Amino acid sequence: MATRIYFVKIAGCFNAKSVMIQFKEMKVKSLMETKRRDNEIMTILSKAEVEKVISILSEVYPLADCELDYKSSFQLLIAVMLSAQTTDKMVNKVTDELFKDYPDLETMLTIDEDELQRILKKVGMYKTKAKNLMALCRMLQSDFNGEVPGTLEELVRLPGVGRKTANVVLSNAFDQPAIAVDTHVFRVANRIGLTCEKDVYKTEISLMAQLPKNQWSSMHHTLIWHGRRQCYARKPLCETCRLKSLCKAYPIT
Ligand code: SF4
Repeated sequence: MATRIYFVKIAGCFNAKSVMIQFKEMKVKSLMETKRRDNEIMTILSKAEVEKVISILSEVYPLADCELDYKSSFQLLIAVMLSAQTTDKMVNKVTDELFKDYPDLETMLTIDEDELQRILKKVGMYKTKAKNLMALCRMLQSDFNGEVPGTLEELVRLPGVGRKTANVVLSNAFDQPAIAVDTHVFRVANRIGLTCEKDVYKTEISLMAQLPKNQWSSMHHTLIWHGRRQCYARKPLCETCRLKSLCKAYPIT
């Protein structure tokens, strides 16, 4: 019996030890993986190259700014919310009509849903957007004293508002450093090599690490402008691109 207990103790010790060893190995492996990933990110473009990209883009697009028309943080919030899956040009057409009679929260709270759907018809997903817009207005009134909130956490609580919309509002209406990753920022930043990520959220976090904080908002605009004017999704104009000597994706044919 004593021998059996002793054997069980030894076996127990052995198991505990091997579990510890396995645990340590896993920890080292995961640290190495993180390091490898960090190094990959760091070697995408060097710090000096990132600075060159920033300088070229700001030279090429000195006037890069938000292309949505708005006169208040409320109008900006609505316009960005409506811009999902459509163009800024189309949103501007629609908001031009919408904001004529409903320029602020007070008036927007009086809008009839059918009337709102009629106005929004051209922006796509108009029924969902109309519903969200009305719910958003009610929440602004009930939870935020009728004001557009100025933090990411509060903004993303609003119906139809995700991180992208919230970041655009923070950066343009509240002058806070933020990188809103839309389809253009995602595509262009990954092509150039400012980041190497597979999803929008990781791209945002990675760009925040790669770019100087005081450049977040302006880079958001210049990357969008580059995506709309040169680095098209289908046929980017690589041969005439000022970034071609730095771009990791060059040439895309
Ligand atoms: S070289 Fe081509 S892929 Fe790279 S940023 Fe310019 S247009 Fe885009």
